Amino acid sequence: MANPKPDELVQIGYQAPPRDWMDTPADFRKGTYCYSALAKNLTYLGLPNPREWQPFDADWKLPPDWKETILKGMKERLEKYRSFRLFMDICVRCGACADKCHFYLGSGDARNMPVLRAELMRSVYRRYFTLAGRLFGRLAGARDLTEDVLKEWFYYFYQCTECRRCSVFCPYGIDTAEITMMARELMTLVGVNINWVLEPAANCFRTGNHLGIQPHGFKDSVDFAVDELEELTGVRVDASINRKGAEVLLVVPSADYFGSPHYYTFLGYLALLHEVGLDYTFSAYASEGGNFGLFTSHEMIKRLNAKIYAEAKRLGVKWILGGECGHMWRVLHQYMDTMNGPADFLEVPVSPVTGTRFENARSTKMVHICEFTADLIHEGKIKLDPSRNDHWNVTFHDSCNPARALGMLEEPRYILRNVVRQFHEMPEGTIREQTFCCGSGSGLGTDENFEMRMRGGLPRANAVKYVKEKYGVNLLACMCAIDKATLPPLLEYWVPGVEVAGIHELVGNALVMRGEKERNTDLRGEPIAEAAHA
Ligand code: SF4
Ligand code: SF4
Repeated sequence: MANPKPDELVQIGYQAPPRDWMDTPADFRKGTYCYSALAKNLTYLGLPNPREWQPFDADWKLPPDWKETILKGMKERLEKYRSFRLFMDICVRCGACADKCHFYLGSGDARNMPVLRAELMRSVYRRYFTLAGRLFGRLAGARDLTEDVLKEWFYYFYQCTECRRCSVFCPYGIDTAEITMMARELMTLVGVNINWVLEPAANCFRTGNHLGIQPHGFKDSVDFAVDELEELTGVRVDASINRKGAEVLLVVPSADYFGSPHYYTFLGYLALLHEVGLDYTFSAYASEGGNFGLFTSHEMIKRLNAKIYAEAKRLGVKWILGGECGHMWRVLHQYMDTMNGPADFLEVPVSPVTGTRFENARSTKMVHICEFTADLIHEGKIKLDPSRNDHWNVTFHDSCNPARALGMLEEPRYILRNVVRQFHEMPEGTIREQTFCCGSGSGLGTDENFEMRMRGGLPRANAVKYVKEKYGVNLLACMCAIDKATLPPLLEYWVPGVEVAGIHELVGNALVMRGEKERNTDLRGEPIAEAAHA
């Protein structure tokens, strides 16, 4: 069946469902769910119950003790994570979060209201872990854990992108993303996963990056970029790999050196770091900053993240610089230090160019490249010609994790205002902490759930449409590898004519490099605007 057209998808019914949600099994309609993880990926990661199955099958081939396994896992996690127990107990059903989820706004499905999404799990919690639930059952909002309930969990917890927008509006600070993380972790215990999450995780475990690129392939990619940058700018940069004794380890999401438009951001990093003379190296093993463990389990986060500190130690660097990515930074900022640290063998990062000491990275020893670049601009260390970006009329999409997990709201805007001359914000309520998700984060950026991705991305696209029509915006800048992959099809669907770029692509365009040839093109090889060229 062909994908629905935008004018069909925009007809959204928000009326209450005809039956109580507890009596309505999940409807696995094509285009709205993700395929199961392949057995080979579970096997590779040592996860339980590898087998061939699909969500639309009647029999999910669960282990005989699946229910006991999940309830035991739930008990352990309720004891281990105070936040989990708190989030199960304290919701007052005020409804402040109800209309804040992009999946609810785009689908009208009540179980995509964050309060009800969480209720899918709370109802089971009440049944097995509270006295009222044990005694009064459904009257107390409790229900048994059945195969239908598990299927409902799978359907709706893989229709949550863990974006945390709802938590911004909850008066109690309940973080539905953490409930989703817990649900996915519990499902992992019985082999219920999606392939778009586990395949990158398995690749990462094997070769260090999501794409399964081996060290020689990584070197080829970097060498190719160095050659191409020389063709574009006339400047030959040095991008070393596995060089012991470098001052800084640079870790980027693998999409930066393999995906488009990410690749132009990668060229921007190479140009900038060469221009300021940073003594850095890549690692062919820590060749991925992204971490799909975040969408699987806490244990998987830790396993996939460990390589970064290990490589920093092996190479003897002083500190770590990280590229543009969303969930990568949530892991680095919120989990890395406690899971795989303390990184006492590293130093508190100091920019060798400006002398700025990044106190905010005192614990992790890892600096975001937007912090690094904003500091360079602030201290007047690079020469920029923003007119080279005059062919772009830019708006900025705050990626969920940098905005809500890092609070990185000003640095990208500061950079953009210095490297472009046409910049317009999307409306209040759709940016900064309240930014809308791309609709395909947390491992949902696959093709089989295209309809749900377009639905989930509708609020974001709608705000882009507004600035396109009002100001003529033709470029959406962002700082997340998943966004750079998922926003182009989203915008092509809802707002054709708006392209997507990373912040450092625009930096690379504007950067005036010593020894450069006359710049006729941007990093995409497209002619730069006439006025700038003259
Ligand atoms: S975390 Fe995001 S996707 Fe999940 S329920 Fe909240 S708003 Fe929706
Ligand atoms: S805003 Fe918070 S307390 Fe209110 S319904 Fe949503 S999760 Fe519950």
